[in-house]
Amino acid sequence: MLVTGASRGIGRAVAEAFAQGGERVAVHYHRSAREAEELAASLPGEGHLAVGADLADADAVHRAVDAAAEGLGRLDVLVNNAGVFLPHPPLDTSYEQWQAVWSSTLATNLTGAANATYCAVPHLVAAGGGAIVNVSSRGAFRGEPEHPAYGASKAAMNSFGQSMAVALAPRNISVATVAPGFVDTDMARSVLEGPDGEAVRRQSPFGRVARPEEVASAVLWLASPGAVFASGTIVDVNGASYLRS
Ligand code: NAD
Repeated sequence: MLVTGASRGIGRAVAEAFAQGGERVAVHYHRSAREAEELAASLPGEGHLAVGADLADADAVHRAVDAAAEGLGRLDVLVNNAGVFLPHPPLDTSYEQWQAVWSSTLATNLTGAANATYCAVPHLVAAGGGAIVNVSSRGAFRGEPEHPAYGASKAAMNSFGQSMAVALAPRNISVATVAPGFVDTDMARSVLEGPDGEAVRRQSPFGRVARPEEVASAVLWLASPGAVFASGTIVDVNGASYLRS
């Protein structure tokens, strides 16, 4: 299996969960080669490897996906986890910054995941089928007033996942999505440790945010053979902080 953005945070927890389940894991990283290689070396089991690429670089994505498939021997699961969460409140952002954030957010969170999917599908077909799991966000549904490109990228990712679920089912490939609320990772650190941290924790009646392992557990299930018929679903992992009808 290949998980993008796996040198830390949710991606790291996903890599650990799959390795504990006996899978060989390709740990994708952007700049943190050393952390990714150390993680691959520390995972239980054998045959794990690290592959690097900027997800905004289509050629680099292609090389990384092929390297993962070649290094693992086969590729039957892709987890599109990597993402950026760049603030750009509409009223406090210059037009230049506004354009730059939209461009880099969509290139990583949406087009990067779409390109990784395109490059992975032939390998999944060669493996006889498999699963793709996308890591989206509660913000796709709830709105992201300080991070509008992020919210839009995740809403688009939800739609992309549903389209692919229909397109790839005839190839025996399931496609599902997890939509976490706040998770205790570096991405959310400044919010969770800032003045709004307590209010964010109180958004959930559990009085806390998710642990990365709780998101990984949903990803692991969605990629399992028992979840094939959940293809097309979007699973909330937000501690009942936001209930969709
Ligand atoms: P994180 O910042 O710890 O991890 C993000 C990963 O994405 C990093 O490994 C980073 O290197 C990688 N990445 C970023 N830009 C990249 C690029 N251009 N090319 C390649 N890799 C790139 O954050 P996390 O919380 O572990 O986030 C993982 C996923 O979960 C993201 O898609 C994020 O949007 C989503 N998510 C996080 C939260 C949260 O509160 N932490 C909530 C909802 C959804």
